[in-house]
Amino acid sequence: MRLNSFDATKHERLSELGQRVLKGGRIERDEALWLFNLTDTADIFELMAWANRIREQYKGNKIHLCSIVNAKAGACSENCSFCAQSAFHQTASPKYGFVDPEPVIEAADEANRNGVTAVGLVAAWKGLKEGPMLDEVCDRIAELKATGKTRPDASLGIIKSQAVADRLKAAGLECYGHNLESSRRFFPQTCSTHTYEDRIETIGYLKKAGLKICSGGIIGMGETREDRCDLALSLREIGANVCPINILNPIKGTPFEKNPPLPPMEILKTIACFRFILPRQEIMIAGGRTVNLRDLQSMVFAAGASALMVGNYLTTLNQSVEKDLQMLKDLGLDPNWDSHDFTDQEEAGCGCGNQTCETSAVTA
Ligand code: SF4
Repeated sequence: MRLNSFDATKHERLSELGQRVLKGGRIERDEALWLFNLTDTADIFELMAWANRIREQYKGNKIHLCSIVNAKAGACSENCSFCAQSAFHQTASPKYGFVDPEPVIEAADEANRNGVTAVGLVAAWKGLKEGPMLDEVCDRIAELKATGKTRPDASLGIIKSQAVADRLKAAGLECYGHNLESSRRFFPQTCSTHTYEDRIETIGYLKKAGLKICSGGIIGMGETREDRCDLALSLREIGANVCPINILNPIKGTPFEKNPPLPPMEILKTIACFRFILPRQEIMIAGGRTVNLRDLQSMVFAAGASALMVGNYLTTLNQSVEKDLQMLKDLGLDPNWDSHDFTDQEEAGCGCGNQTCETSAVTA
């Protein structure tokens, strides 16, 4: 990253874009690309300062904490190149069937103890159809909901019918995790057993069912800055409510195991750009933050992040929840957040620009 003398033109353009977003305006693709292509350290810190202002304006000092349960592990029929749970890759991933009630209730109890306000049931399979497995999944969701201790979320793969989405909603599910993973252009380089369209179609059914959408992606897979920009713009287009940013943690045995790590300043810049493009959304820092950001983790909030995945990930360890809670306390940030409350997004609309956002087919 180059050090440079002060550039008034860049400074003016940054503040013009920052002020526009603070006033409720949105930035367009060419402007977003300009932000993603900033390379000077001073410019990136200035970009982060604006992103932090945007976060504070739309999210206050609240930080949304969520945790996940690996509800069905390994042996997945899909070949996602980053994933330890794919049956195509020789990894040390655990393998077990869909969980019984106990681990889900324990996860809700632990979440409640730690002030974590959403728990997501995640299954390593292609998707969910009508049948006995859907019945079992709905039972787990209803049990999680009945604890009253956490918002029940889930990430259960591709859905091919409205009926399945409606069943999940009826069981008490509130938010469904389904990442676009990367840009439409780069997606085929991450997976060939299903398509970007499969994921867009799935999100369409979920939105029609009235479920909130948790959709983001993974950076550091070999995509370009333009791909990362287009991912954020697509998340805006689909009306995602929560946008997880995972940073690739190369797993031994996967095709991406030798991927070079993204420089931390590039990661922080990406988070800040996402905040400019998705000002009212929950921008969540998920997998890979400890191994890729190390001591710079706390800077994700100064870069505009407003949510954190805490506790261990599906197949890899995270730092302790206690350490994360201390980090938030040291920054004066408040994890006590009403996970059911999306009113700020609903009032302003999700920014996708579609007139009939809540019901229209997704077009990203
Ligand atoms: S569909 Fe999910 S669990 Fe399966 S390989 Fe892809 S990322 Fe992994």
